[in-house]
Amino acid sequence: MIELRAGSATDVGLVRSNNQDRLLIADPLFAVADGMGGAAAGEVASATAVNTLREVFEPIPSPTSDDLVRSAESANRAVWDLAEANAEMRGMGTTLVALALVEDGRLAIINIGDSRVYALHQGELRQVTEDHNLVAELVAQGRLSEEEAEFHPRRNIMTRALGVDPDVPVDLFVEDPESGDRYLLCSDGLPREVKDDQIAAILRRLRDPEEAARELVDEAKRRGGNDNITVVVVDVVDASKKGDAVDATTVVPPVAPEAPNQGTPSRRRGRRQRKHDTAESSRPKARFITIRVVLFVLLFLLILAGAAVAIAWYARSAYFVGLQGQNITIFKGRPGGVLWWKPTVARTTTTSVNDIESRHLPELQAGVQEPSLGAADDYVSSLVREKQQAESSGLPPAPPAATTSVPAPSSVPPTT
Ligand code: MG
Repeated sequence: MIELRAGSATDVGLVRSNNQDRLLIADPLFAVADGMGGAAAGEVASATAVNTLREVFEPIPSPTSDDLVRSAESANRAVWDLAEANAEMRGMGTTLVALALVEDGRLAIINIGDSRVYALHQGELRQVTEDHNLVAELVAQGRLSEEEAEFHPRRNIMTRALGVDPDVPVDLFVEDPESGDRYLLCSDGLPREVKDDQIAAILRRLRDPEEAARELVDEAKRRGGNDNITVVVVDVVDASKKGDAVDATTVVPPVAPEAPNQGTPSRRRGRRQRKHDTAESSRPKARFITIRVVLFVLLFLLILAGAAVAIAWYARSAYFVGLQGQNITIFKGRPGGVLWWKPTVARTTTTSVNDIESRHLPELQAGVQEPSLGAADDYVSSLVREKQQAESSGLPPAPPAATTSVPAPSSVPPTT
């Protein structure tokens, strides 16, 4: 029969003034949360998440992996509700990783954010969870190498966090543990400073989980300690071979306010999901791209597209009669064009400049606008008829147009 033994350590690090991480050891449930938000909000978020997770999960007599997911969803709602009710806590959020022994002796692991769970199996370290941050996703998509990711300026930008939206997708991983396996839950303050092979070496070297946890935290501090560091080491042991079982101890600092009543947890999500929410956040100063921001950007793009369509319509909705060499030609568009929409030839006529009164040439050089192709045709016909009538009546040609000639009327009534 499988049982769990755990050790833990947490430290503010060498740079931060307060520790916004929280950890939970409540056998068979273990968790790490890394809060974010101004003032004390980050601490409230991580503590509320961990406390709610425990309050919802612990009373379940024979919990399943789905129960762990639902408990995390309740924790999300608790942090969200608290932020909604308190203006100074708006925008707070937290990561959450949790591990629990569930039915059939399996281990359920959930993740939201960029805290991590690792598994050490027969000396080999494997990251179980996938980080919900921008850089990790770019690496997964093959758009960024591991080396580029390590020093990427946006490596702290999270794509998913607990408590920043009323609902959050929860990643679920189910493991079949073997005696001797070791699991590590940690906030990002550990892997930011200590490489995976160094983490593995410490986990292999120190058999006592408490000692291993403390050494991991100390190593992160020796390498910079730029963030809060929190570590929970959970050993899988065979109860029949085990000596004294370690009593479960809760080491959650009593900082958090009481979480609001959770009501009935949502059943909407039960399995590991890949769907991303729209929250994007980073620490230490929380930043979120909310649905409102996305909608605003979409609206702005729609307005731009609408303006482009309107200009295109204006540019292409008219016709004008002009000259192409010696020929009278009908163009589609506006004389001279509008922005990048240039006029195109709509119809080449057989009428040349010799077939019309020369006084019309200046206005044709400028382009005479007409509302439709038919109106443009009528205008050309009227110019030809005008000259023919003048010739048949024997009148002398009309004088050239004045320099301030007025364009011809949009349509000259045909004289049939
Ligand atoms: Mg952190």
